[in-house]
Amino acid sequence: MANSIKVLTDKCMGCKVCEDVCPFGAISMVERQEHPKKLKLAVIDLNKCAYCGSCVQSCKFNAIELKKESLQSGVDKSLYKGVWVYAEQRRCEISGVVYELLNEGKRLAEKLGTALSAVLVGSNIKSKAQELIDRGADKVYVCDDSIFAEFQDDPYTSVLTQLIEKEKPEIVLMGATNMGCSFASRVATRIRTGLTADCVSLEVDPKTRNLQQTRPAFGGNIMATILTPEHRPQMATVRHKVFKEAKIEQGRKGEIIEYKVNVQTLLNRTKFLSSIKDTSAVVNLDAANIIIAAGRGLGKREGFKLIEELADLLGAAIGASRAAVDSEWIPYSHQIGQTGKTVAPKVYIACGISGQIQHMIGMSSSDIIIAINKDASCPMMQSATYALEGDIYEIIPCIIREIKSLKGG
Ligand SMILES: Cc1cc2nc3c(=O)[nH]c(=O)nc-3n(C[C@H](O)[C@H](O)[C@H](O)COP(=O)(O)OP(=O)(O)OC[C@H]3O[C@@H](n4cnc5c(N)ncnc54)[C@H](O)[C@@H]3O)c2cc1C
Repeated sequence: MANSIKVLTDKCMGCKVCEDVCPFGAISMVERQEHPKKLKLAVIDLNKCAYCGSCVQSCKFNAIELKKESLQSGVDKSLYKGVWVYAEQRRCEISGVVYELLNEGKRLAEKLGTALSAVLVGSNIKSKAQELIDRGADKVYVCDDSIFAEFQDDPYTSVLTQLIEKEKPEIVLMGATNMGCSFASRVATRIRTGLTADCVSLEVDPKTRNLQQTRPAFGGNIMATILTPEHRPQMATVRHKVFKEAKIEQGRKGEIIEYKVNVQTLLNRTKFLSSIKDTSAVVNLDAANIIIAAGRGLGKREGFKLIEELADLLGAAIGASRAAVDSEWIPYSHQIGQTGKTVAPKVYIACGISGQIQHMIGMSSSDIIIAINKDASCPMMQSATYALEGDIYEIIPCIIREIKSLKGG
């Protein structure tokens, strides 16, 4: 049973309260000539209504009847099939996180014995569909219209909601990017399902087909695995660099399905004026092959001069623990971890960082971890590929000297 809402004409007093409270502008009042007292009648525009229930609660005449699919009857989970990845793009460039989600999505789809699909929303975007197939998608749903030229929550939310309601995927994965975080929650609310944000690992139980969504909880002190057992689809967002990218398989075969969008059915309450590039985030930790990160063990702001010298020699980017950022030794844009960036370089060098869970979440997918620390028993040293026990101020100058002599400097 789908969501349904109706105004009970015999009870509506035309008081206009519902029109005022509706956050979606979905209710208007119309004249009722036939009414003995000429009372107005509330009319609900179903294209705009999100079935949020605000009008029902506000009506003191009980004149609006709302029946919600999930609350009334439960969801028939057998109708939901396939794993979907939302293929986020900006200016027709697919975001890196999408390739990572396709890799993980493929693994989950194979475990469930189902197909992996990608959803591509944008303007003049169809040519990008093959890239998604090359990275593992079996199907790509393309929603191509000029209304999607710039990201806006309303139309993007509407179109993804429509597509999910029509095709019924059982899992929908999205990047925990600014864009993903902004509209994944809106989509989940519209289709009345759960959303687990900022997952750091995903698994499926082939028997129940439940997605096990693991994310930090209680300030990162524990990892919680969250299920959405009663509702479908199961929705999760995952940060960039948590999973490895899917490899490219040039010319892979897949199906491209164009979804004809009726723009009249899309909610659109905002107007795009312009976008301004953020120039404050100058540190490109995402693209770095080598990251040298320092923490409280540095002891002082000046310690970063030594880190910079080594970073220059190695062509590395500089990262930091929150302790170093909170001490104001280095700006926040360098922070790695739960409340900073997630990175996965080839080499991560952790200098004077103890390796608390909130930091490890942001870098544990690095290929090689080198730790320099006085305390051999700390978690960073224990999980490192190479653990160098000793004082940063003795070990790093030795490494610098060695590299310089190798370079003949
Ligand atoms: C909600 C929440 C979110 C958080 N988010 C983040 C986050 O995004 N990123 C993050 O990093 N943290 C985060 N934290 C903080 C985290 O819990 C730790 O406090 C922090 O990571 C510790 O930083 P550190 O390892 O630099 O400092 P410490 O834990 O104090 O470790 C310092 C290390 O330096 C070593 N050391 C000292 N002197 C030397 C020396 N001369 N030479 C060699 N080694 C030396 C010590 O043995 C020690 O291991 C968060 C915490 C919370 C509650």
